[in-house]
Amino acid sequence: MTPNKEDYLKLMYELGAYRNKISNKSIVAGLNVSPASVSEMVSKLEKDNLVTHTPYQGVQLTEQGMIYASSLIRKHRLWEVFLVEHLNYSWEEVHVEAEILEHATSDILSNRLESFLNNPEFCPHGGIIPSLDTFIEEPNQLSLNTRSEQDRVVIKRVLDETELLEYLAEIGLQINDIVTIKKIGAYEGPIILTNEHGKDVMISYKAASNVFIDVL
Ligand SMILES: [Zn+2]
Repeated sequence: MTPNKEDYLKLMYELGAYRNKISNKSIVAGLNVSPASVSEMVSKLEKDNLVTHTPYQGVQLTEQGMIYASSLIRKHRLWEVFLVEHLNYSWEEVHVEAEILEHATSDILSNRLESFLNNPEFCPHGGIIPSLDTFIEEPNQLSLNTRSEQDRVVIKRVLDETELLEYLAEIGLQINDIVTIKKIGAYEGPIILTNEHGKDVMISYKAASNVFIDVL
Protein backbone atom coordinates (compact mmCIF):
# COMPACT_ATOMS: atom_id res chain seq x y z
CA MET A 1 0.00 0.00 0.00
CA THR A 2 1.46 3.40 -0.92
CA PRO A 3 1.35 5.93 1.89
CA ASN A 4 -1.21 8.70 1.32
CA LYS A 5 -1.26 12.34 2.30
CA GLU A 6 -2.49 11.55 5.80
CA ASP A 7 0.30 9.05 6.45
CA TYR A 8 2.81 11.77 5.62
CA LEU A 9 1.15 14.23 8.00
CA LYS A 10 1.06 11.68 10.80
CA LEU A 11 4.71 10.75 10.32
CA MET A 12 5.72 14.42 10.41
CA TYR A 13 3.80 14.79 13.64
CA GLU A 14 5.58 11.77 15.08
CA LEU A 15 8.94 13.19 14.05
CA GLY A 16 8.22 16.52 15.72
CA ALA A 17 7.93 18.59 12.54
CA TYR A 18 5.99 21.44 14.13
CA ARG A 19 8.67 23.48 15.86
CA ASN A 20 11.52 21.90 13.96
CA LYS A 21 12.19 21.24 10.32
CA ILE A 22 12.70 17.60 9.45
CA SER A 23 14.67 16.29 6.49
CA ASN A 24 13.15 14.55 3.47
CA LYS A 25 15.57 11.74 4.30
CA SER A 26 13.84 11.04 7.61
CA ILE A 27 10.48 10.84 5.79
CA VAL A 28 12.00 8.42 3.27
CA ALA A 29 13.20 6.23 6.16
CA GLY A 30 9.96 6.48 8.15
CA LEU A 31 7.59 5.58 5.32
CA ASN A 32 9.85 3.33 3.23
CA VAL A 33 9.25 5.35 0.08
CA SER A 34 11.50 6.81 -2.61
CA PRO A 35 12.98 10.32 -2.33
CA ALA A 36 11.04 11.23 -5.51
CA SER A 37 7.66 10.34 -3.97
CA VAL A 38 8.53 12.38 -0.88
CA SER A 39 9.35 15.49 -2.95
CA GLU A 40 6.15 15.04 -4.93
CA MET A 41 3.96 14.71 -1.84
CA VAL A 42 5.68 17.59 -0.06
CA SER A 43 4.82 19.93 -2.96
CA LYS A 44 1.19 18.79 -2.84
CA LEU A 45 1.00 19.36 0.92
CA GLU A 46 2.61 22.76 0.47
CA LYS A 47 -0.08 23.77 -2.06
CA ASP A 48 -2.73 22.80 0.52
CA ASN A 49 -0.98 24.96 3.16
CA LEU A 50 -0.36 21.95 5.39
CA VAL A 51 3.44 22.16 5.32
CA THR A 52 6.17 24.62 4.46
CA HIS A 53 9.28 23.49 2.69
CA THR A 54 12.65 25.23 2.68
CA PRO A 55 15.10 23.77 0.17
CA TYR A 56 18.13 22.08 1.83
CA GLN A 57 16.62 22.68 5.29
CA GLY A 58 13.54 20.56 5.43
CA VAL A 59 9.80 20.35 5.93
CA GLN A 60 7.66 21.75 8.72
CA LEU A 61 3.96 21.40 9.53
CA THR A 62 1.91 24.61 9.43
CA GLU A 63 -0.58 25.18 12.23
CA GLN A 64 -3.32 23.91 9.93
CA GLY A 65 -1.23 20.82 9.15
CA MET A 66 -0.57 20.27 12.84
CA ILE A 67 -4.28 20.41 13.73
CA TYR A 68 -5.11 17.98 10.93
CA ALA A 69 -2.35 15.54 11.93
CA SER A 70 -3.18 15.81 15.61
CA SER A 71 -6.83 14.88 15.06
CA LEU A 72 -5.88 11.80 13.01
CA ILE A 73 -3.26 10.75 15.54
CA ARG A 74 -5.80 11.10 18.34
CA LYS A 75 -8.29 8.71 16.72
CA HIS A 76 -5.57 6.31 15.62
CA ARG A 77 -4.04 6.01 19.07
CA LEU A 78 -7.34 5.70 20.94
CA TRP A 79 -8.24 2.73 18.74
CA GLU A 80 -4.83 1.20 19.38
CA VAL A 81 -5.40 1.36 23.12
CA PHE A 82 -8.85 -0.18 22.69
CA LEU A 83 -7.55 -3.04 20.54
CA VAL A 84 -4.69 -3.87 22.90
CA GLU A 85 -6.63 -3.53 26.13
CA HIS A 86 -9.94 -5.04 25.11
CA LEU A 87 -9.39 -7.27 22.10
CA ASN A 88 -5.97 -8.73 22.96
CA TYR A 89 -4.10 -7.38 19.99
CA SER A 90 -0.30 -7.25 20.17
CA TRP A 91 1.45 -3.92 19.60
CA GLU A 92 2.64 -4.86 16.11
CA GLU A 93 -0.87 -5.88 15.02
CA VAL A 94 -2.82 -2.76 15.95
CA HIS A 95 -1.43 -0.31 13.42
CA VAL A 96 -3.21 -1.68 10.35
CA GLU A 97 -6.60 -1.85 12.08
CA ALA A 98 -6.26 1.62 13.62
CA GLU A 99 -5.31 2.97 10.20
CA ILE A 100 -8.74 1.95 8.87
CA LEU A 101 -10.77 2.84 11.97
CA GLU A 102 -9.39 6.38 12.34
CA HIS A 103 -11.10 7.42 9.09
CA ALA A 104 -14.50 6.18 10.20
CA THR A 105 -14.36 7.93 13.57
CA SER A 106 -16.29 11.12 14.32
CA ASP A 107 -15.29 13.51 17.09
CA ILE A 108 -18.20 12.27 19.23
CA LEU A 109 -17.06 8.68 18.85
CA SER A 110 -13.47 9.59 19.72
CA ASN A 111 -14.66 11.38 22.86
CA ARG A 112 -16.81 8.44 23.96
CA LEU A 113 -13.97 6.04 23.25
CA GLU A 114 -11.59 8.21 25.26
CA SER A 115 -13.80 8.22 28.36
CA PHE A 116 -14.57 4.51 27.95
CA LEU A 117 -10.80 3.90 28.10
CA ASN A 118 -10.42 6.20 31.14
CA ASN A 119 -8.60 8.98 29.29
CA PRO A 120 -5.37 7.19 28.42
CA GLU A 121 -2.34 9.43 28.04
CA PHE A 122 -0.29 7.22 25.73
CA CYS A 123 -0.80 4.67 22.94
CA PRO A 124 0.81 1.19 23.12
CA HIS A 125 3.84 2.59 21.27
CA GLY A 126 4.40 5.35 23.80
CA GLY A 127 2.94 8.12 21.61
CA ILE A 128 0.94 10.85 23.30
CA ILE A 129 -2.84 11.00 22.73
CA PRO A 130 -3.74 14.58 21.80
CA SER A 131 -6.95 16.09 23.17
CA LEU A 132 -9.76 17.11 20.84
CA ASP A 133 -9.47 20.90 21.00
CA THR A 134 -5.84 21.64 21.65
CA PHE A 135 -3.03 19.98 19.81
CA ILE A 136 -0.12 18.64 21.77
CA GLU A 137 3.29 18.11 20.31
CA GLU A 138 4.88 14.71 20.53
CA PRO A 139 7.17 14.61 23.58
CA ASN A 140 10.24 12.34 23.66
CA GLN A 141 11.98 13.31 20.46
CA LEU A 142 15.46 12.09 21.38
CA SER A 143 16.35 9.09 19.23
CA LEU A 144 18.43 6.14 20.38
CA ASN A 145 21.01 6.46 17.58
CA THR A 146 22.09 9.91 18.83
CA ARG A 147 23.46 8.62 22.16
CA SER A 148 26.94 7.41 23.18
CA GLU A 149 28.35 4.15 24.52
CA GLN A 150 27.73 3.63 28.26
CA ASP A 151 24.60 5.80 28.23
CA ARG A 152 21.77 4.28 30.22
CA VAL A 153 18.39 5.04 28.66
CA VAL A 154 14.72 4.13 28.94
CA ILE A 155 12.70 3.38 25.80
CA LYS A 156 9.82 5.86 25.81
CA ARG A 157 8.33 5.69 22.35
CA VAL A 158 8.74 3.96 19.00
CA LEU A 159 7.61 5.03 15.56
CA ASP A 160 4.24 3.58 14.63
CA GLU A 161 5.31 1.54 11.63
CA THR A 162 4.39 -2.12 11.21
CA GLU A 163 7.77 -3.40 9.99
CA LEU A 164 9.60 -1.62 12.79
CA LEU A 165 7.17 -2.93 15.41
CA GLU A 166 7.56 -6.49 14.14
CA TYR A 167 11.33 -6.09 14.21
CA LEU A 168 11.33 -4.78 17.77
CA ALA A 169 9.03 -7.59 18.91
CA GLU A 170 11.47 -10.04 17.31
CA ILE A 171 14.56 -8.64 19.04
CA GLY A 172 12.59 -8.25 22.27
CA LEU A 173 12.64 -4.51 22.86
CA GLN A 174 9.64 -2.85 24.52
CA ILE A 175 8.36 0.46 25.85
CA ASN A 176 9.76 1.22 29.33
CA ASP A 177 12.71 -1.15 28.90
CA ILE A 178 15.88 0.22 30.50
CA VAL A 179 19.04 -0.49 28.53
CA THR A 180 22.71 0.48 28.52
CA ILE A 181 24.39 1.21 25.20
CA LYS A 182 27.27 -1.26 25.06
CA LYS A 183 28.71 -0.78 21.58
CA ILE A 184 27.92 1.46 18.63
CA GLY A 185 29.09 0.07 15.28
CA ALA A 186 31.14 2.45 13.10
CA TYR A 187 29.58 4.02 9.98
CA GLU A 188 25.99 3.65 11.14
CA GLY A 189 26.57 0.02 12.05
CA PRO A 190 24.41 -1.96 14.50
CA ILE A 191 24.11 -0.88 18.12
CA ILE A 192 24.44 -3.39 20.96
CA LEU A 193 22.35 -2.75 24.06
CA THR A 194 22.42 -4.57 27.38
CA ASN A 195 19.06 -4.91 29.08
CA GLU A 196 18.28 -5.03 32.80
CA HIS A 197 18.66 -8.83 32.83
CA GLY A 198 22.21 -8.55 31.50
CA LYS A 199 21.19 -9.81 28.08
CA ASP A 200 22.57 -8.20 24.90
CA VAL A 201 20.17 -6.99 22.24
CA MET A 202 21.39 -5.91 18.81
CA ILE A 203 19.44 -3.22 16.99
CA SER A 204 20.14 -1.78 13.52
CA TYR A 205 21.10 1.88 13.22
CA LYS A 206 18.03 2.57 11.07
CA ALA A 207 15.65 1.07 13.64
CA ALA A 208 17.45 2.93 16.44
CA SER A 209 16.77 6.21 14.65
CA ASN A 210 13.04 5.58 15.11
CA VAL A 211 13.20 4.55 18.77
CA PHE A 212 12.90 7.47 21.20
CA ILE A 213 14.40 7.53 24.67
CA ASP A 214 15.03 9.40 27.87
CA VAL A 215 18.57 9.43 29.27
CA LEU A 216 18.81 8.19 32.85
ZN1 LIG B 1 0.73 3.95 18.41
